[in-house]
Amino acid sequence: MGGAGHGVHFLDACFLCRRPLAGNRDIFMYRGDTAFCSDECRSAQMAADEAAERKERASGASARAVTHGALPAREAEGPQERGKVRAGSILAL
Ligand SMILES: [Zn+2]
Repeated sequence: MGGAGHGVHFLDACFLCRRPLAGNRDIFMYRGDTAFCSDECRSAQMAADEAAERKERASGASARAVTHGALPAREAEGPQERGKVRAGSILAL
C-alpha cells in the first residue's frame, strides 16, 4: 500500500534538494519555516536569498513602481434595451 495521499509537509523534505528528512537526521532550519537536510543546503539557500535580496534592493524602487494597467472605465454604450419589450407593454398574440 503506497498511501501517499497526504500532502508532503514542508518539514518532511529538504527545501533545496528535496531529500526526505528522516526522523533521525538533524534538520537545519532557516527563517523559522524552511528545513534543510544539511548545513550545505541551508548555506546555499541563504546565499541565494541574499543575492536575490541584494538584487531586489538594487533595482528596488523602480520595480515597485509597477503601475496597474488601469483600463479606462467605459460607460456601457449602445442601448441594450432596444430589442427588449418595454416593461409594461402588453404582448398580444
Ligand atoms: Zn538538502
